[in-house]
Amino acid sequence: MEADEAGRRRESWAAAGNKPCAHESVTSERFGGMSSGDYVCLRCGKEFTSRAELPRGCSIL
Ligand SMILES: [Zn+2]
Repeated sequence: MEADEAGRRRESWAAAGNKPCAHESVTSERFGGMSSGDYVCLRCGKEFTSRAELPRGCSIL
């Protein structure tokens, strides 16, 4: 997912009340098509700067 799209998801998630998210599915964050090495949650847009930070059992898509 592009970083700006992740930013939009964070904004919509916050606007929707910033509910808890289990971060069940994450994907690689990209800048202009290049992987940044970070991951972002597909639901809420939260960034994870390393694989070690990812929730246990989450899917990397
Ligand atoms: Zn999330």
